[in-house]
Amino acid sequence: MPERIESESRKLLGRLRAAMAEASAGQARLDRIVRLIADSMGTEVCSIYLFRDPDTLELCATEGLRPEAVHQTRLRLGEGLVGRVARDRIVINTADAPSERGFRYMPETGEERFSSFCGIPIQRLGEALGVLVVQSRAARVFTPDEVYALEIVAMVLAEMTELGAFTAGDGNGALSPRHQRPVTFRGLQGQEGAAMGRVWLHEPRVVVTNPFSDDPDRELARLCAAIDSLREQVDAMLATSVSVDAEEVAVLEAYRMIANSKSWIRRMQDDIRSGLSAEAAVEKEQSLARTRMGQAADAYLRDRLHDIDDISNRLLRILTGQGGDTGAAMPDDPVLVARNIGPGELLDYGKGTLRGIVLEEGSVGSHAAVVARAWAIPLVIRAEGITTEALNGDPILVDGDQGLAHLRPDETVRRAFEDKIAMLARAQERYAGLRHLPAKALCGTTISLHMNAGLMADLPSLASSGAEGVGLFRTELQFLVRNQMPKRAELQALYARVMDAAQGKRVAFRTLDIGSDKVLSYMKPQDEPNPAMGWRAIRLGLDKPGVLRMQLQALVRAAAGRPLTVMFPFVATPEEFRAARAEFDKALARERILGHPLPSQAEVGAMVETPSLAFAPDEFLREVDFLSVGGNDLKQFFFAADRENERVRRRYDPLSTSFLRFLRDFVRRCEATGTPLGFCGEDAGRPVEAVALAALGFRTLSMRPASIGPVKSLIRRIRLDEATRLIEDAIAAGHDSARPALDAWLARQPV
Ligand code: PEP
Ligand code: MG
Repeated sequence: MPERIESESRKLLGRLRAAMAEASAGQARLDRIVRLIADSMGTEVCSIYLFRDPDTLELCATEGLRPEAVHQTRLRLGEGLVGRVARDRIVINTADAPSERGFRYMPETGEERFSSFCGIPIQRLGEALGVLVVQSRAARVFTPDEVYALEIVAMVLAEMTELGAFTAGDGNGALSPRHQRPVTFRGLQGQEGAAMGRVWLHEPRVVVTNPFSDDPDRELARLCAAIDSLREQVDAMLATSVSVDAEEVAVLEAYRMIANSKSWIRRMQDDIRSGLSAEAAVEKEQSLARTRMGQAADAYLRDRLHDIDDISNRLLRILTGQGGDTGAAMPDDPVLVARNIGPGELLDYGKGTLRGIVLEEGSVGSHAAVVARAWAIPLVIRAEGITTEALNGDPILVDGDQGLAHLRPDETVRRAFEDKIAMLARAQERYAGLRHLPAKALCGTTISLHMNAGLMADLPSLASSGAEGVGLFRTELQFLVRNQMPKRAELQALYARVMDAAQGKRVAFRTLDIGSDKVLSYMKPQDEPNPAMGWRAIRLGLDKPGVLRMQLQALVRAAAGRPLTVMFPFVATPEEFRAARAEFDKALARERILGHPLPSQAEVGAMVETPSLAFAPDEFLREVDFLSVGGNDLKQFFFAADRENERVRRRYDPLSTSFLRFLRDFVRRCEATGTPLGFCGEDAGRPVEAVALAALGFRTLSMRPASIGPVKSLIRRIRLDEATRLIEDAIAAGHDSARPALDAWLARQPV
């Protein structure tokens, strides 16, 4: 970069800094800044547009356009050239603005006199905050050096906007400060329920407090030292992970490449020489990477940009001294806000800690969602942009029913929400009153309601929910919460405690179901094209039988004289079940030889999670002690719709007649062979779906504890034989779904 431009932009930034220091009110600062920029750039016009709300840009200051237009002229995102710069986060630089695509004439500003236009997005970490515009009468395209200088200024403006420098003390009805106004995020429902609390960011943001610098040499030295520490960090991580994990090594190698990338470092050095602080220079590169990440169609490129984003974060932490642990105390009513989270990381927070969860990404079928469901806390997923808007400690309302998160809600919303929470609490009280009553329908059929669990902390729910037993104990959660493989003695002690807590009620222990999205940090991850259909659950258990054997032995020893129920996950063929059962029999035989007490009785079953098992021969149905339908997986394979992919997972209704017919025929075969059958997928806990399953003949349903009340309450109000008839009629009549008929019928039932 030519030195002249470097010192020009440094001079401009120097003047900006002086202006920031002098003028105290936000509007006065903005007015000074636009004057300064117009003067330095030799343009007739300089304007700053900022977002009033996520869809509207407002002219907040101008030099050269009509002053009356300030705070009056507004544009929608994408509207006019300014709106396009903000939406697409691109620079528009043209000598002839009126003939540019999307130009919109704004008569109140008097801008018709100006032919050239250069609009620069004011953005921070890939989020558009506004637009900086210069215009001039003479028809000319701004030079690359001028555009660069404006980009540097826009970067500083972004930081100042983020810090609220333009909004404090206005009194002119302008914009409310960023991170202070109420914002509602419309995501998707991950788990029903309502909660109020305060934001706790899973990954706290790094705050850059000073974007300027007048001592480039010092900043260059700081950057250089920080990059050295970064390289050391990456090398140290590589040294410890080499033998363990090929994927992690690949990522770290990519990090090392970036940390040594001459062009990356040179760009940041240029920015520093132009007047930015080292932190602001890193953030400028990070912003660029984030913007490109949103636009890149190529997955490889996206991954690399993601790496830059990640490594920039590390560099910022080194420069600012703000670590992953910022020392901030978690509020006592935390609502977790994160881009995404795995089940292991979520479990680290511990049951009872979080009031709710809001994720920017996430999926309803993921195991993190299963954990949220087990904890009975509301979960909103796909709340786009929340991690950039929310600050630690911000008040937040989570509406899991509607998939909404109200950040910094105003008084009216907060009051309405309190009413909703009170209503839900009253419903809970009503359900608690049913705790000791059976789920007996008006026609006389009784359904046995069990609960799903996975942690010791879930067990108290057995009594409070009125569950008859644990229909699914997800043993992998114990493996996910640790940093290393648990020992047999630890597992034995834990299983024994679970049985103690169950006080003789049946607990169906499902053996380890890992793979797919359940990744153990201490096991080598597999690079599989489609992990949900890959090396997971019993497949892994049989290929590497050490862990399965240890687990079975721990279960047998924990039972010691008590009944034991074990089931194997994701069985696709009878042979797999036989091989797994043989392992169980071997475990029993070993214990017998050792003279240890055996379980008083043992039931060994399989989960039906693949359509293939539902079509297994009758001989197999007679062979198993029981079967339990894992509807979450079964449904994803029946409809070929990934349970973790939000685009497809809702396309297919579990009450479609094709799925109901498939389940009905399977239930009939189990009845004919006398095979005890249950259902333990999430659908068992949705009242309408639960009624349909019971109507098809499932007599045991296992669900999250919080669903037992609502499901029981509904079953007790209806005749299941009528529901059966409705479903049969829908199938016979060739309807696509039984839902409309069931919904209409349920609406007619007395409350
Ligand atoms: C299922 O697949 O329905 C099930 C209960 O197992 P998980 O959700 O743990 O895969
Ligand atoms: Mg499953």
